[in-house]
Order: sequence, then structure tokens, then C-alpha cells
Amino acid sequence: MNTDHQQQIQKAAQLIGSAKCAVALTGSGISVESGIPPFRGAGGLWEKMDPMEVAHIDSFRRDPARVWELLIRDLKECLDRARPNPAHLALARLEAMGILKGVITQNVDGLHQAAGNRDVIEFHGTFAWQRCMDCQRRLETHRVELDQIPPRCECGGILRPDCVFFGEMIPPEHLHRSRQLSERCDVMLVVGTSAVVQPAAFMPVIAKQCGATVIEINPESTPLTANISDLLVKGPAGQVFTGIMAAMADYTVR
Ligand SMILES: [Zn+2]
Repeated sequence: MNTDHQQQIQKAAQLIGSAKCAVALTGSGISVESGIPPFRGAGGLWEKMDPMEVAHIDSFRRDPARVWELLIRDLKECLDRARPNPAHLALARLEAMGILKGVITQNVDGLHQAAGNRDVIEFHGTFAWQRCMDCQRRLETHRVELDQIPPRCECGGILRPDCVFFGEMIPPEHLHRSRQLSERCDVMLVVGTSAVVQPAAFMPVIAKQCGATVIEINPESTPLTANISDLLVKGPAGQVFTGIMAAMADYTVR
């Protein structure tokens, strides 16, 4: 830990500690320390398979068993094991403290709710639940048995993840609420995302235009760093948040 890094942690702790309405925008980077591989970027799932073939709604409709075999089964096994890491837990703690008013996430892993956050906007829906394609009944993914592929609802309908496939729309109400939160917040935390993919990319811009301080927590600088972020704390999200929460405790005691 060099001094620069410590100073950035201190600065972030002060800004977060004095925020009245903080909002977090999170992406796959926050879940890496929970053992969940990212979809995009180097080493991501989409380097190994073509999302248009395995994660497009048309492919799923055409051959649900194949998409379950190629993609969903492995994801389920990975997510059944995954637990929130210190970054998820810190965001839940900040919500409990009344500082954080909402989480906007690009992730479908459900780890924010598992950590205890109650107000979570999931742009791409959630993989933590499956939905029957016929009767729309929802079932928690970890309760789904894989003795038949594709798994079926008790009505006989095929189960699909309750997330947004390629070729499907992001629910408009999620966009609307995300914009509102981004306009209202005084601090926006951008965690584990380079925020280059829309609509997430737009949220820090809105926050900044409305006068918020933008704090970025990412392993490397991103396109946001130069133009939008007021502060970049470099490092893995869990590690950085452990530092920030410790610094906030000191800062509050004083
Ligand atoms: Zn059903």
C-alpha cells in the first residue's frame, strides 16, 4: 500500500461518510472476488462462446435444452456456490447506515440482495430466479433440480432465467428509476465497471451533470476516469471497500 493509495481511500471514505444520498453503479468487476467470471472483456465468457448463439432469446426459444446445457447449467453451478464479498457487504452496510439509497447493477448474480441491499435495480434482470415461460411462476434458481434439461415448472412449462437475454428489452421502469436515482444522488460510486455499455454508461454522466461527485473503484482507469470521475481508487473492489470501511470507522469516531 503506497501513500497515494491510502490517501485516495481516506478521501473516498470522507466523501462517502458525508454523502446524504449515495448511489452505486456496479458491474461484473464487483463479483470477481466472489468467483464469478465476467461475460465481457479478457478472460470473459463471451471470448469462449458467441453470446448471439447461446444467450439470444431466439436461440433459447429454438432449443432451450441446448442453451441450458451450454450456458445456464454452468452459470447456475457457479452462482449456487457464490457468496457476497466485502464489496457487496460494504454496500449493504452503507444502505443500513442510511447513506446509500440504491444500487444500479449490470449483474444478474443476485449478490447485492444476498448481502442485504433492499433497493437494487437490475438492468438485466436476475439469474437468482427462474421463470416459467407458460405460467410466469418464479422459482429460486438454487431450488431448481437439474435431473431433466431443460428443467420444467410444475405446470409443465419450460423454466428460463429471469434475466434479459440478447434480443430482449431492458424493462423501461428500470431505466426510469435509474435515471431518477442518478439525478438525485450527491455521490455516485462506480464499482467494477468501465461503464462503456449503454444504458449503464449514461448514469455517471447524468450524476455528474446534476452535480454529484463520482467515485470510481476499478482495478484500472476507464474511459470515465479522465472526464467524469472525481476520484479513482484503483484495486479489486473487495479490497478497496475493506479499506474504505475501516477509514470511515476512524473518521466517524473522530
Ligand atoms: Zn408454469
